[in-house]
Amino acid sequence: MNKEDFRKQAHQMVDWMADYLEEKEKYPVSPKINPRDIYNQLPDKAPEKGEDYNDIFSDFKNIILPGMTHWQHPSFFGYFPANNSEPSILAEMLISTLGAQCMSWVTSPAATELEEKVLDWLRDAKGICSTWKGVIQDTASTATLSALLAAREKATNYKINEKGFTGEEKFRVYSSEHVHSSIDKALKISGIGQNNLVRIPVDDSFAMISEELELAILKDIDAGLTPLCVVSALGTTSSTAIDPVRSIGKICEKYGLWHHIDAAYAGTALLLPEYQWMIDGHDTADSYVFNPHKWMFTNFDCSVLYLKNPHYLVNTFSLTPEYLKSNLDGEVNNYRDWGIQLGRRFRALKLWFVIRSYGLEGIRSKLRYHLTLTKSQVIKIEQHDHMEILAPVPLNTICFRYHDIRYSLDELNLINEKWMGLVNQSGKAFFTHTKLDGKFAIRWVIAQTDVKDFHIKNAWNLLLDQLPLAIEHVKEK
Ligand SMILES: *Cc1c(COP(=O)(O)O)cnc(C)c1O
Repeated sequence: MNKEDFRKQAHQMVDWMADYLEEKEKYPVSPKINPRDIYNQLPDKAPEKGEDYNDIFSDFKNIILPGMTHWQHPSFFGYFPANNSEPSILAEMLISTLGAQCMSWVTSPAATELEEKVLDWLRDAKGICSTWKGVIQDTASTATLSALLAAREKATNYKINEKGFTGEEKFRVYSSEHVHSSIDKALKISGIGQNNLVRIPVDDSFAMISEELELAILKDIDAGLTPLCVVSALGTTSSTAIDPVRSIGKICEKYGLWHHIDAAYAGTALLLPEYQWMIDGHDTADSYVFNPHKWMFTNFDCSVLYLKNPHYLVNTFSLTPEYLKSNLDGEVNNYRDWGIQLGRRFRALKLWFVIRSYGLEGIRSKLRYHLTLTKSQVIKIEQHDHMEILAPVPLNTICFRYHDIRYSLDELNLINEKWMGLVNQSGKAFFTHTKLDGKFAIRWVIAQTDVKDFHIKNAWNLLLDQLPLAIEHVKEK
C-alpha cells in the first residue's frame, strides 16, 4: 500500500469507525455461531501475492465482523467491560502510527515522561499516597504477577532471582475465597505453587474476614511455613465485594507480609470522593493495581500498578545488557525495569487523551450515572416477587436470580442458567454469571461507555419476557 492509498483508505475507514460507534447497537451483542464457522471460511494457505486492500476490508466486514462479540454494545452487561471511548481510539491510532517501542527513556523520552506524569495525576485524583509511583502494564494479571515476584525477591534478598529455589522455601500467599484466577496463575508462574494459595473465608458480604486471615497466618507459621503476601480485593470479580484494606494491612504489618491490593475493576471508583473509603488504610500496603481498560473509557490494554517502594520491583526485574546501557541511566526512568516485558507500547498516550478529553469531572459524572442506573435497577429487582439479589451492590454490579420456594436449589440453578441463555441468544443483551453460595447468579454490570436508561429498561423487559420460557423449559424436563 502506498502513502496515497493509505490516506484514502484511512479516511474511509474512519468513516466506517464513526458509523460503527454510532450504530453499534444494531449488531447482535454476541454472535450466533458454531466452533470453526469462521476458521473454515478462511483460506488454508497465506497468500503468496499481495491482495487488494478493498478485498481485505470486505472480508473483515463479511467474515470477521459476524463472528465478533460486540464489547462496546451498550447492552453488553457481562464479565467486566473493556470500555473504549472516542479519545482513546484516536490516541490508539496515533500510537500505531508512531510505532514507538517505549522500553527505555532514550527509546522515546516523551513516552516515559508522559507515563510518569499521567500516573501521578491519576494517583492524586484517586487519593493514593503521594509518594507512590506507578507503571503501566498490559493487564492486571501481569501487574499482580510482577508484585508477587517483587514480594518474593524482597523476602529472599533477591536470592531466588539469582540461584533459583533451593527447595526449602515454603511460601504462602493469602486471599479471599473469591480471589480472581489471575492470583492462582501468578502463584503457578512465580514458582510458589498454586497449592500455597490460602483461601480465607468471607463474611455475608463476600469480603475477607481479617480474623480468619490472622488465624491462617498463625497456623502456617506453626507448621513451619513462610507467609509471604496477602492479595486483598477491592471489587471481587464475582460480586465486587470490598475486602477490609485497613485491617488486612495491620495484619500484614504485624507479620511482615507484602500487601497487594487488586482493584482491577473497582479502582476507577476511587476517582469519586464518596468511594475513598475503599482504600482507607492503604498507606501500609505495598502495591495496588487497577485497570483503566475496564471502567475508565481507555481501550484495552492499559493496567496501572502503583508501588510504595518501586525499587523492590526494579531490583527484581532490572538487568541491563551492554546494548541497553546509556549514560543517562542514573537520571531517568527506564520502564523496561518495572516489569516482565522489555518492549513496551506507548499506552500513556491513551490515558492522557482520555483524562484531558473528559476531564476528571467528565469521568466522575459518567461513573455516577452508571451508579445511579444501578440503584434504580436494584429497586426494580427487589420489588419483583420472584427475584432476589444475592450480594450487596457497593458499585454497579448486580448479582440476582429468579427465586421461587416451589423449586429446589438445583432446579433454580437450571432455570436461571436457561433464563440467561435465552436472553443472550436473543442478541439484544448479554449477561454472564457467577455462583454465590452454590446459587447460580446472573451478573448485571452497568458500566458501558454509552449505556443509557432505556438500555436498562429494554434489557429488563427482555428478562421479564424470557423468564416464563425458562421456567417452562425446566418444568418439562
Ligand atoms: C479483571 C480482573 C482481573 C484480571 O484483569 P486482566 O487485566 O484481564 O488481567 C484481576 N482481578 C480482578 C479483581 C479483576 O476484576
